[in-house]
Amino acid sequence: MTFADLSLCAPLQKAVQQAGYTQPTPIQEQAIPVVLSGRDVFGCAQTGTGKTAAFALPILNRLHAEGPQRGGPRVLILAPTRELAIQIDESFRAYGAGIKARTVVLLGGISIRPQIERIRRGVDIVIATPGRLLDVIDHRALRLDNVHTFVLDEADRMLDMGFLPSIKQVVKLIPTERHTLFFSATLPKEIRSLANSILTDPVHIAVTPENTTTEMVDQRLYYVERDRKRALLAHLVKEDLEGSILVFTRTKRGADRVTKDLMSAGLRVAAIHGDKSQMARQRALQDFKSGKTRVLVATDIAARGIDIAELPYVVNYDVPESPETYVHRIGRTGRAGRAGVALTIATPEDRNPLRDIEKLIKMRIPTVRDHPFEG
Ligand code: AMP
Repeated sequence: MTFADLSLCAPLQKAVQQAGYTQPTPIQEQAIPVVLSGRDVFGCAQTGTGKTAAFALPILNRLHAEGPQRGGPRVLILAPTRELAIQIDESFRAYGAGIKARTVVLLGGISIRPQIERIRRGVDIVIATPGRLLDVIDHRALRLDNVHTFVLDEADRMLDMGFLPSIKQVVKLIPTERHTLFFSATLPKEIRSLANSILTDPVHIAVTPENTTTEMVDQRLYYVERDRKRALLAHLVKEDLEGSILVFTRTKRGADRVTKDLMSAGLRVAAIHGDKSQMARQRALQDFKSGKTRVLVATDIAARGIDIAELPYVVNYDVPESPETYVHRIGRTGRAGRAGVALTIATPEDRNPLRDIEKLIKMRIPTVRDHPFEG
């Protein structure tokens, strides 16, 4: 299947071409026709599968068909984290370059005034984290009566982060007669019941990221004694790897320590974790994306939803506690058709979690022998 088979308007076809996409990903192939038809969607897909375009393209197609309108936003998209909201906004701007649709992002942690000012100037698409959206509504700066399309992205993360009451409040403020698209990477009971309460006769769409992710990524395992992990990391970054590297640590303190280490080894490096201000996190991410810093050190929570096109390397400085986290981490590289490499630094004590990871990904991760810091 090609994008030309997907009945998208000419400006969107052009945008897709400009983005360099040659073929729709599986979630796009399945979801775009369904969304265009107006049916609700219950999608089970992770970041990295191309799901943003799977909803953004048909939404923009509808706005284009409707033409410019006044009267408040027609599309509302809720995302759990600021980083994800910003990335969704960037995608809408890129795909919507030839379409008259105005986007506003509403995020906590930064001043509310400029956001309200943007809304006053007219908006078609609101992309928001739930808390800030409700704040803006409390300021009487936004009404949602005109919303005809509602997207809930990474619903499972939203629940993890305690957003359920906010989501319920938002749903009460948008028309019941609407088009709803619901995405979640996992489907626990609470997610299914939330989906049931806000979707009408949805089409279920599932793509399995585990297989595509692990097939796309060249994985390697380095065994080392605990006290030599830092030296091994510095060696890998300096001598073995070329280009941008995302390093995962289990803790915020670990992230800071690794960052300091690499800095003193003369590398351009920044950290992103929950103790950093929103400004600092955004800057770190921006510098990393632009290539100004070569290494970004992140904790799992801070890295949620980070989407960096063409990220060649992920390094697991610590073996993650849960196997799903491993799959999620290595899914940052080798995305949507691009190859990537994921290196994992493990100590002999990590054998049990590694066995669980290998069970989940249904393969053995090849061990690198004869590296300079081996036992
Ligand atoms: P997402 O799952 O929406 O976060 O998308 C993951 C990455 O895949 C993003 O960097 C997109 O730009 C890229 N992408 C989305 N759709 C395609 C496609 N059809 N072909 C190639 N890359 C894509």
